[in-house]
Amino acid sequence: MRLIYDLDLPELTSLMIEWGEPVYRAHQIWQRLYRQYWNSSEQFTNIPTSLRDRLAENFEFQALALATALNSSDGQTVKSLFKLQDGRSIEAVLMRYEKRNTLCISSQAGCAMGCVFCATGQMGFKRNLSSGEIVAQVMYYALMLHKETNVVTNVVLMGMGEPFHNYDNTLAAIDRLNDPQGYNFGARRFTISTVGLVPAIRRFAAEKRQINLAISLHAADDALRTSMLPVNKRYPIEELLAACREYIAATGRRITFEWALINEVNDTPEQATLLAKRLKGMLCHVNAIPLNPTQGYSGQATTRERAEKFKQVLESYGIPCTIRLRRGIDIQAGCGQLASKV
Ligand code: SAH
Ligand code: SF4
Repeated sequence: MRLIYDLDLPELTSLMIEWGEPVYRAHQIWQRLYRQYWNSSEQFTNIPTSLRDRLAENFEFQALALATALNSSDGQTVKSLFKLQDGRSIEAVLMRYEKRNTLCISSQAGCAMGCVFCATGQMGFKRNLSSGEIVAQVMYYALMLHKETNVVTNVVLMGMGEPFHNYDNTLAAIDRLNDPQGYNFGARRFTISTVGLVPAIRRFAAEKRQINLAISLHAADDALRTSMLPVNKRYPIEELLAACREYIAATGRRITFEWALINEVNDTPEQATLLAKRLKGMLCHVNAIPLNPTQGYSGQATTRERAEKFKQVLESYGIPCTIRLRRGIDIQAGCGQLASKV
C-alpha cells in the first residue's frame, strides 16, 4: 500500500477534490502529519470518521516497523533498524551532540556501489526507498524528540544507500520535509553525501539548491580510489573534482570531502600531500574519520598520531581538515553495520 508520506500537499489536495471533500481537509491532515507527528489514521479526530476510514483503506501510516534499537554506552547515539512493508531492512541513527540532534538516514535498502570497506556496499543493492520511506525516518525521530520537547536540528543522507542513485525520491523527500506549511525543515540543514556520481552532481549544481553536499573521496590517486570505490573507474578523480568545482561556482557553497582513514592505506603523508594539491584553491573542507572496520574488509582504523599528521599536512597547504570521532562505535553505528549483522 502507498504511504501517506509519499504524498506532497498538492497531491493530497487533488485527492480530497477527487474524493469530494473540501480542499481544507488536505491542510488539516498535512498539519497533523508534519506538525503533530500523528502516525495512525485513528488519531485524526479533526476530520470526519468517514474520511479517516477512507484514508486508512487507501494509505499506510506506519512505514517503518522498529526491529532493533540500540543506545550507545554514553547514551548520545540511538540506532534503529527498521523493517519496511516488504520486509527489507534499513537503518537510521540519531546523534546527540551539544545542542545538535543530527539524524543520519537511508536512501536505499542496500547499495549498488560496492565500496569495499562499507557494510552496506558489501550486502549489495536491494531497492530504492520511496520518498515517503525517506520522510518517515525523519518523522519517526521527530516524534521521539518531540516527546522530550526537543527537535531534529540536522539531517544527513549518510545511512544506507547512495542518495544520487535514487535522486528523484531523495530530493522529493527533502522538498516535502522543507514545505513551510508542513515540517518546514530548512534546506541548509540537510546534507547529501555521494560517492561521486558525476552527472547527478552536475544536475544538483544546476538546481542551485541550499542543501549541503559531501563527497566521499577517500583516496587521492585513481588507482587507490578505484581499488576502494569501484565507481571511480567510471568517474575518475579529475572528472569528479571538475563537477565539484561546477557545484561551488553555481552555488557559492563550500563542499565537504569525506575521508575514512585506513591504517597504512590512505592515511599516509603522500596521500595527504596529493590530496592537498588536488584541492588547492577550492572552497572546501576535509572531514576525516577513522575507518569503522567491517567484516568483509581487512583494513583497520588509523591511529590518532597518523590522523593528526594527515591533518597537519593538509593544513600546511591551507586545506581545512577536521578529524571526527567515531560516535556510537559500540552500537555498530557505521553505515549498514547493524543491518548486515542482523
Ligand atoms: N552512499 C553515500 C552515503 C552513505 S555512506 C556515500 O558513500 O557518500 C556515508 C559515509 O560513510 C561515506 O562517506 C562512506 O564512504 C562512509 N563509510 C562507509 N563505510 C564506512 C566505514 N566502514 N568506516 C568509515 N566510514 C565509512
Ligand atoms: Fe554505497 Fe556509500 Fe557504502 Fe559506497 S560508501 S557502498 S556508495 S553506501
